[in-house]
Amino acid sequence: MSRVFNFSAGPAVLPEPVLEQAKAELLDWQGRGMSVMEMSHRGKEFVSIAEQAVADLKELLNVPDNYNVLFLQGGATTQFGMVPMNLLGGSNEADYFNTGLWSKKAVAEAKKFCQVNLVTDSAGNNFTTIAEPSTWKLSPNAAYVHYTPNETINGLAYDTMPDVGDKPLVADMSSTILSRPLDVSKYGLIYAGAQKNMGPAGITVVIIREDLASNPLPKTPNMLTYKTHIDSGSMTNTPPTYAWYMAGLVFKWLKDLGGLAEMGKRNQRKAEMLYTAIDNSAFYSNPVDPKYRSWMNVPFALANDDLNKTFLAEAKEAGLVTLAGHRLVGGMRASIYNAMPEEGVQALINFMNDFEKRNG
Ligand SMILES: *Cc1c(COP(=O)(O)O)cnc(C)c1O
Repeated sequence: MSRVFNFSAGPAVLPEPVLEQAKAELLDWQGRGMSVMEMSHRGKEFVSIAEQAVADLKELLNVPDNYNVLFLQGGATTQFGMVPMNLLGGSNEADYFNTGLWSKKAVAEAKKFCQVNLVTDSAGNNFTTIAEPSTWKLSPNAAYVHYTPNETINGLAYDTMPDVGDKPLVADMSSTILSRPLDVSKYGLIYAGAQKNMGPAGITVVIIREDLASNPLPKTPNMLTYKTHIDSGSMTNTPPTYAWYMAGLVFKWLKDLGGLAEMGKRNQRKAEMLYTAIDNSAFYSNPVDPKYRSWMNVPFALANDDLNKTFLAEAKEAGLVTLAGHRLVGGMRASIYNAMPEEGVQALINFMNDFEKRNG
């Protein structure tokens, strides 16, 4: 068997010890003679797996008691609609930061339900920087404020949490959750698809302050109502049981390595190594304002786009895969999530240096 270094933006690399444990338990979970995939979601075995995963996630993020942790389906994309359906309350307005292609999708969906005010809009700078807070326009009538802390496609990340006063702050953390410490108590709602930093595709984590779930729009379907899932412990219908179990293994792995403080140090180190290599070269470039560079997704361009195909083919030969940039951005993108080891980043840098020597 040989494993590559996989820089995919998502679904993405998973920690090897997690995959090993899943493999060891695949046919016979803890002496029950069956796979987790084959268990009833209401049986005591799966319920214990599910509860443990929720408890470990709460512990990792130090989730306050007045918040609920939900494991839902439909990906982060479903949250683009669920957020306005459940959080608008009596209001017809919401504030959105437009700082990248994922913000843009969230804005488009919210517009079906209310008037969307753009707090700031980075479209004009091609989503490479975020304007000064003094220029932001928050509306007094907005029911909530939505932002995307890490723009997966553009490689743009907020350096600190935006200050939006006492409005509930909603964050799409799909590509940054669990990458460093986080103060959940400052947020109204956090959501994230699992397939970047938490596990396989198929499950979406929502962390919601309890009081925000009480006033959905009248015709909101049950499955799109947070309250339904709070009341049922995310077991309104059959949840994606295997993805839930896998996410639980990832949470255990994170706890064992020292939690989010340690994970944050590792991620910062990996990102600094890669950005330093890019900045020190005349051949590679990253367009993002250094203050707002993502630790998770690092887009970079070659001095000559005609070399992109050769770069990707030779990288693949060297065991470095899924480095093509998003089709709307072009160039390359290295996603270096929690499960990407430092050796993987070092191997990429070595390859990049070598490729530059031969082609620069
Ligand atoms: C990947 C991603 C999404 C979409 O997630 P799905 O789970 O595929 O719906 C949304 N927002 C961000 C920031 C992402 O990185």
